[in-house]
Amino acid sequence: MTYRSTFLTILMAISVATASAQYPGWQQSIDYTMDITLDTASHQYQGQMIAKLKNNSPDDLDRAFFHLFFNAFQPESMMDVRSRNISDPDSRVGSRIVELPEEEWGWIKVESLKVNGKAVEFVHDGTVLEVKLNSPIRAGKRTTFEMTWSAQVPRQIRRSGWMNKEGIEYSMTQWFPKVCEYNHDGWHTEPYIGREYHGIWGDYDVTIHAPKGYLIGGTGLLQQSMESSRNSGNWNFIAENVIDFAWAADPDYIHSTSSTGDVTFNFYHQANEEYDANWAALPEYAAKAMVFLNELVGPYPYPQYSVIQGGDGGMEYPMATLITGERSLRSLVGVTVHEMAHSWFQAVLATNESLYEFMDEGKTSYVTTLCMRHLFAEAITSGVPHRSSYSSYISQALSGNEEPLITHADHYQTNRAYGVAAYSKGEVLLAQLAAVVGTDARDQGLRDYFAKWSFKHPGPLELKQCMEAASGLDLDWYFQYFINTTHQIDYAINAVYEGQSSATIELERIGAMPMPQNITVTYANGDVESFHAPLVMMRGHKQLARNETLLPDWPWTHPTYSFSIPTSSPIVSVELDAARLTADVDRENNAATFDQQWQRIYQRN
Ligand SMILES: [Zn+2]
Repeated sequence: MTYRSTFLTILMAISVATASAQYPGWQQSIDYTMDITLDTASHQYQGQMIAKLKNNSPDDLDRAFFHLFFNAFQPESMMDVRSRNISDPDSRVGSRIVELPEEEWGWIKVESLKVNGKAVEFVHDGTVLEVKLNSPIRAGKRTTFEMTWSAQVPRQIRRSGWMNKEGIEYSMTQWFPKVCEYNHDGWHTEPYIGREYHGIWGDYDVTIHAPKGYLIGGTGLLQQSMESSRNSGNWNFIAENVIDFAWAADPDYIHSTSSTGDVTFNFYHQANEEYDANWAALPEYAAKAMVFLNELVGPYPYPQYSVIQGGDGGMEYPMATLITGERSLRSLVGVTVHEMAHSWFQAVLATNESLYEFMDEGKTSYVTTLCMRHLFAEAITSGVPHRSSYSSYISQALSGNEEPLITHADHYQTNRAYGVAAYSKGEVLLAQLAAVVGTDARDQGLRDYFAKWSFKHPGPLELKQCMEAASGLDLDWYFQYFINTTHQIDYAINAVYEGQSSATIELERIGAMPMPQNITVTYANGDVESFHAPLVMMRGHKQLARNETLLPDWPWTHPTYSFSIPTSSPIVSVELDAARLTADVDRENNAATFDQQWQRIYQRN
């Protein structure tokens, strides 16, 4: 199938699947045609665009907005002031913006704007352009924006800019005036402060004129050969159905490729004796990772993916990533897998990351962990998957500085609180579902979620709905507690009363967040038994493992819970959540151990 027909097939399948869903079922769409002339002496460029917006919403829009991200890289911008006032600034930003000489600032100045052929007024308001429309953009109608602008590429500070710390000349991300998203919950005109983007899907036809000899990689398919583009200095890329367009340019790039059969990979990096071998090994890992992620989540829908040395760490874009390249093999593969894994969550599902950043970073981290275990299986022979995310979430929760997942990405009190929430707790949200719905239902729910909500901007409730459908369980409580509150999970074994042929075990919920419990009993004769206590409000229970015994439901209102079991050998130990699937913040009280005497009582201090 062609690229376009693949999309149509997916979209048709989705519209059937969601016919009865509560979702509004519309998306704005926008097609950009841009012509860009880069002056590498002044680090400025001239741009012109025609952007065709189809207002698929049921609403007439009396205003329109564009993002002007580069304006963040000026003294006293919101990004600058925020970075100088937050208690734990990102070291890549710190006070670097206020220290920039004027010729190294970033800016975008819109010079002219017509809407449907008529000039309109507009106001530059920091990183957002407000457009005063002569008449509303009507529901269901197409609107054409014609814009010319000039821009100065900032000295590389954060993600974008010229001359990154590894000597890449141009990292061109968040670089053009981009129409803000209007979706079923309204306008999304966030100023650019630090993180996260939300965009409209559409087709991009971007022509870049750069000095001859530069090599350019980015989102989309190059329309002429790389050699002829390099010789002429004219680069034309076309990308279909993407939410953003990024590129990077350097005269010293070395280009290589690999393929999965369906997807072509491009790699761009500068020669470096110490790291060239790692870049030479990367293509094979990337292709294997793509195959693994396709099976775990669903088919990657684009024909190409480019891994480009640039930026300031790793940042995801549709069909491309910019990563720093001077890394060990493990780190180079790790960052590539992570950024590529964003394709499923940031580029195709494209949840509003400003509001629900954990839906992107958390799921990306979750699948990255599994993919890295797959790629480096021989190196990871022990340990619980996702363990480092559990640890980082639990230590943040216990520090008292945790903020709920629902916090707006730019508005966390600390960068650390954002990072732990978005990446670690977001990863635990999915991993921990194994304890609630079981691994098979969790894995099926994730695949269903991707198939059903691709290209629709779902939110957390759409994930909840898919997990409920896959498991048959009611999960309102789980998503409500874990996303909207900082309530913690802490269960304990209170007491074990052991008789000649039976034992009674008493558990207690100490933390505010309820969870179903798995109890493992080990006997002196070596037998091990497992018991599962679901919550009443789940209206059922996860699929039980073989040799797992179902106990009566535990009402969350009841702080303690007792059950009795027949025994034929003395109990050696009783343990809660032995598989370590729940983020129980205090494991000290999760296990009771005995010597091998009859008639014993264990009681927690
Ligand atoms: Zn990420």
